Amino acid sequence: MARSCATTERGCVANDCPLCAGAREKKELAPWRTWRWWDCAECGIAFCTPFKNPGAGFYQDYADLYPVEATGAPDAMSFEYRECLRSFSGSVDGKKLLDVGCGSGGFLNWARKRGFTVTGLDFDAARLDLVKSKLRIFDVHQGSLLDFLASHVGQNYDVVTMFQVLEHLDQPGAWLESAKILLGPGGRLFLGTPNRDRTFDPFVDGMAQVDNPPNHLTRWRESSLKAFLEKCGFKIVEIRSLPVPLPLYALMLRNKLRFGLAAQTLSAAQASSEAPKTPSGKTGAVRTLVKIKEFLINALAWISYPLFRAAFKILGWEGVVLYCVAEAK
Ligand SMILES: [Zn+2]
Repeated sequence: MARSCATTERGCVANDCPLCAGAREKKELAPWRTWRWWDCAECGIAFCTPFKNPGAGFYQDYADLYPVEATGAPDAMSFEYRECLRSFSGSVDGKKLLDVGCGSGGFLNWARKRGFTVTGLDFDAARLDLVKSKLRIFDVHQGSLLDFLASHVGQNYDVVTMFQVLEHLDQPGAWLESAKILLGPGGRLFLGTPNRDRTFDPFVDGMAQVDNPPNHLTRWRESSLKAFLEKCGFKIVEIRSLPVPLPLYALMLRNKLRFGLAAQTLSAAQASSEAPKTPSGKTGAVRTLVKIKEFLINALAWISYPLFRAAFKILGWEGVVLYCVAEAK
């Protein structure tokens, strides 16, 4: 039940938790722009206020993070796709897989190649058009999982995948309950979501908007995800954080080794009224140095990655992504 102080004014506690309805006072976390973050001690989930998904238009415009292309090539989250597909031994012919938040179809394409009969669901019509025209996957639908369930009553899937979807939702419970109905008893849900207890955070500086509203509305840890899935009618088969993959490790190194000198030089040149239309010798040299630096960081990442992975295991560090397999009861 909403209380009178459930406003966006500072110094006021947030509304009841939208995930567990817990009414205990929430601890306020660092805000993001006009949004406020709250930590619910009762369910361990952090949520923002206002608690509202920005709608399909947002993802359409967010082409940096959600590319509008359908090459069928692996994307930045391929490591969780791989984790999912390698858990199936033997033939999966005839098994039906529904990928929720399929985007431009990277995982759908892999799952189809593995032998699944695939169905995709996404908010964005432009990306779904590409999945159809470029990947020739035609069983794709636009809208929410609640809409999909309403128009597919009686349909059953062996597998539902929800990679990097949960944290975007303002009705996560209703989506998971819909997934459970579409799966039927014994069906498997594969889910990936950012881990709020991650030891290293790639989402800083220019990447901070990734794990903040309106893109992400919730932050999950292992215990909270487990309890929430159980509440929605699932039995946990496996839950753990995945080791940081090489591209994310390289990104973190790049963040650590960013001094802003190149950006300062380039913006100073652009700001100057004397700035020529073509790059000056100075800005050209800076751009070349930036490329050399990128190359060296990638080489350093590649060389040091095995050591990083070993340390990850030995020191018990937590990964960036929580990966979970759950069975519908
Ligand atoms: Zn809660």
